Amino acid sequence: MDADMIVIGAGLAGLQCARRAQRSGHSVIVLDAEDAVGGRVRTDHVDGFLCDRGFQLLNPAYPSVRQWIDTSALELQTFGFGVVVRSGQDTTTLAHPIRYPHYALGTLRSELTSMSELVALARWLAPTLLRPSTALRQARDQTLRASFDAAGLTGRLRHDVLDTFLSGVLADSSGDGSANYARLLLRFFALAAPGLPHDGMQALPEQMAATLAEPVRLLTAARDLQETSDGVQVATDNGTIQARAAVVAVGSQDVSGLTNLSTPVTRGLTTWWFRAPERPQAGPFLMVDASRPGGGPAGPIWHTAVVSEAAPSYAPTGQHLVQATTLLDQPDGFASEGEVRRDLERLYQAPTQDWEVLFHHVVPHALPAQPPPLKNRHPKWPGSRILVTGDHRGTGSIDGAIISGDRAARVVMDFLTP
Ligand SMILES: Cc1cc2nc3c(=O)[nH]c(=O)nc-3n(C[C@H](O)[C@H](O)[C@H](O)COP(=O)(O)OP(=O)(O)OC[C@H]3O[C@@H](n4cnc5c(N)ncnc54)[C@H](O)[C@@H]3O)c2cc1C
Repeated sequence: MDADMIVIGAGLAGLQCARRAQRSGHSVIVLDAEDAVGGRVRTDHVDGFLCDRGFQLLNPAYPSVRQWIDTSALELQTFGFGVVVRSGQDTTTLAHPIRYPHYALGTLRSELTSMSELVALARWLAPTLLRPSTALRQARDQTLRASFDAAGLTGRLRHDVLDTFLSGVLADSSGDGSANYARLLLRFFALAAPGLPHDGMQALPEQMAATLAEPVRLLTAARDLQETSDGVQVATDNGTIQARAAVVAVGSQDVSGLTNLSTPVTRGLTTWWFRAPERPQAGPFLMVDASRPGGGPAGPIWHTAVVSEAAPSYAPTGQHLVQATTLLDQPDGFASEGEVRRDLERLYQAPTQDWEVLFHHVVPHALPAQPPPLKNRHPKWPGSRILVTGDHRGTGSIDGAIISGDRAARVVMDFLTP
């Protein structure tokens, strides 16, 4: 045997799985098909700019992050506790009234926040904010749409703010996602401001990989995985590896290539990254567009941000980095550069002809779909020595991926320890 455990995939799930198994004294080999660790958490560098492969944020309130990640070493640069809502010609900043007192009056007086809807939102969210495990156990899960209706959230706070913001975060504009998962996500946003590591999101998986005794074998795709009488055998382009058990920690779209499991449903998005010579908007806030009557954007962009306002390390001094995200469940998800530029001009009310495209990341399988009921899903055994894990076996998030990897390691270790 080459090792006790072989982990296929060096995304967050695979890395956490390997770290946990290694800490318990097991020998682990980790393979990844790509040229670096991180999976969906990678960062491209160009001319001093950092462009993550799809805009995403790390929330330091995630339980797995608090427990297993050294966030101070990542030097998180946080976004604001709030959101800028563009609605036709109006721009409203809804921000935490205590942290941003100068926005407090505007937030409370905004036409987006009626008293009756604020009360309905409190009813909908407060139990999860205060006692998440009890609340989520007791609240019958349903679709986000049905749950907002039932709570009496029927006005602009729901359609322009919550629906639009959550669609962008979940890459799902259908309203069919799990209400309990949305509650959980909003709780994390309320607990801590999410941010970006000084060296880009990829610094997160790199920190995790740095603690492995044996470096991840990169550019080593698993082509075939078989169980043998006393273990597993993985065929790669660089030869065959044998171990006592295998953990398949690949993304949804690759699960069926290595196991007999079907492909989980996923949601996609694209992120455009622009270099802007002038700062188009001040403040470390995400802007969502709710200019369509009834909520949602008037153009292809669901959310945008001047990323370098929150994370100065993402752009060289004196320059500015703008991200714009489109959703692939919308007909205009694959909007052209010209359409995206025109939309940005409308949103920032600034010309964009001097803006330069740095990257356009298209991520068709960004997140697993998260329909109700939100279940405490566990790693799955498609064979007696092969376990499948990843965010699609938990929740579609950094937290979900890390927790699912940790669980997988514990399950396999129980199996390996007589
Ligand atoms: C654009 C975008 C925005 C997001 N925004 C957020 C956010 O704001 N907050 C949040 O919490 N989460 C966010 N997420 C989700 C989060 O990034 C993922 O849930 C998490 O990274 C998934 O990790 P994973 O280890 O399960 O899978 P992956 O990261 O997909 O890792 C799987 C790995 O398996 C490897 N692999 C596949 N097939 C093989 C093979 N045959 N042999 C060897 N290796 C193989 C792949 O190369 C990959 O490295 C976002 C994701 C994306 C893409």
